Amino acid sequence: MKKEIKFNSFYFSNNYTKNLENLFKDYELFRQKHYSKACLNILEEIYPKQDLLLCHSATGALELIALTLDIQEGDEVILPSFTFVSTANAFALRGAKLVFVDIEEQFLGLDPYLVEAAITDKTKAIIAVHYAGHACRIKELQALATKYHLSLIEDAAMCFGSSFKDQALGTFGDFGVISFDITKHISASQGGLLLINNKKYSTKAKDIYHVGTNRSAFEEGSIPYYEWISLGSKFQMPETNAVLLQEQLEQREQILHKLQILSKYYYSQLLQLAEKHSFSLMPAFQIENNFHEFYLRFSSRAERDLVATTFKKHGIEALFHYIPLHSSSFAKEHFPSPELKLSSAVSDQLLRLPLHTQVELNDIDYICSVLENYFKQ
Ligand SMILES: *Cc1c(COP(=O)(O)O)cnc(C)c1O
Repeated sequence: MKKEIKFNSFYFSNNYTKNLENLFKDYELFRQKHYSKACLNILEEIYPKQDLLLCHSATGALELIALTLDIQEGDEVILPSFTFVSTANAFALRGAKLVFVDIEEQFLGLDPYLVEAAITDKTKAIIAVHYAGHACRIKELQALATKYHLSLIEDAAMCFGSSFKDQALGTFGDFGVISFDITKHISASQGGLLLINNKKYSTKAKDIYHVGTNRSAFEEGSIPYYEWISLGSKFQMPETNAVLLQEQLEQREQILHKLQILSKYYYSQLLQLAEKHSFSLMPAFQIENNFHEFYLRFSSRAERDLVATTFKKHGIEALFHYIPLHSSSFAKEHFPSPELKLSSAVSDQLLRLPLHTQVELNDIDYICSVLENYFKQ
C-alpha cells in the first residue's frame, strides 16, 4: 500500500469526546463558559501581563483591533504582501489604504528600511507578521512605531509557543493575535486569541468584544447592569471549540516538544543534501523554536513545482505558501503596489513539508529518501 503523509492533522485525544459530553449534559457549563475560562486560565500563565480575549478566529481578533484603533477611510496601514488575506482584510474593511512593503531575506518579515520609507502623514499602523512562527525584525519595527507615533500590531497567528529573546511573540506590539485555526499547530478547530499589550486600549477593546456593551465592567462587579455604550460585534470563541482548545493547551508541552524533535530531525537529515543541491533549509537559528512549519527553498519555481509533484506521486503532501497579496487581482484593483520582488520570489521558491503530531521519524526518513532519489534522476 502506498504510504500517505498528510501535510497537517488534528492532535489526537480521547478527552475531546468526554469533555464535549460533559458540556452537552450541563447547560450551566455553557452558560458559565467553563471551557473558555479554563483556556484563559492556562493562557494567562503564558501571557501574564496581557489582557486576553478569546476570539472565534485570528481574523476576528484583527478586525477587533481595527475597530479599537478606530481606523478610518484614508488611513494608511503598512503590512507585508507575503501574508494571509486576513491581515489585510481586517483593515481594508474599515476603509484603510493598504501599503504593501516587501519582506527581507533572513526572517521573511517586513523590511524595516522599506517600512520607514513608506511612512507618511497618513500612516496609522504597522502590521508585523511573524512568518512560520519566527520573529520578524520586531525590535526595529517597534523602534519605528515609537519614533513615528504609530500603532504596532503583531500578526503572530502562527506563533503559539514561539518567542524572541525569551519574550513571547505577540507581546511586543500594542496588540498581538494568535490563531487556533485547524491549520495551526495548537487548534480549537477554529479560534483565535487577542493579546492587548497597551492598557490604554483595554476597556475599549473589551466593550467592542462584548457587542458594544460594558459587560466586562459588569462581570468585574464595578457596575450593577450592562448596557449598549459603543459599536461592537460578536467575537467570542464558541464553547464547543473551547473544549478542543482546552485539551490541546493542557497537552501543549508534549505537542510542541514533538514538533521540535521533528523539525530538528528534518534539519539534520536534509542538511547534506541541501549543501549538495540547489535548495536551502529553513535557517538553523530558527530550528530550536520551530513548531509551526518546516520549509525548503528552491532556486526556481519550476524546480519547486517538480519536487512538489514528486512528493505527491509518493503520497507526501507538501504545500507552497502565499500568493503575495499585492499580485492578486483584488489588490491590483484596489491597492495597486509596485512589484515586491522578494515576496514574489519567496512565494515561488518555498515548499512546506508535513509537520504535525502524527508524523514519525521514519516518515521523515521516507520524505528525505524521496527527495534524495529525485536528485539522483
Ligand atoms: C492563519 C493566519 C491568519 C488567520 O487566522 P484565523 O484564525 O484562521 O482567522 C492570519 N494571519 C496569518 C499570518 C495566519 O497564518
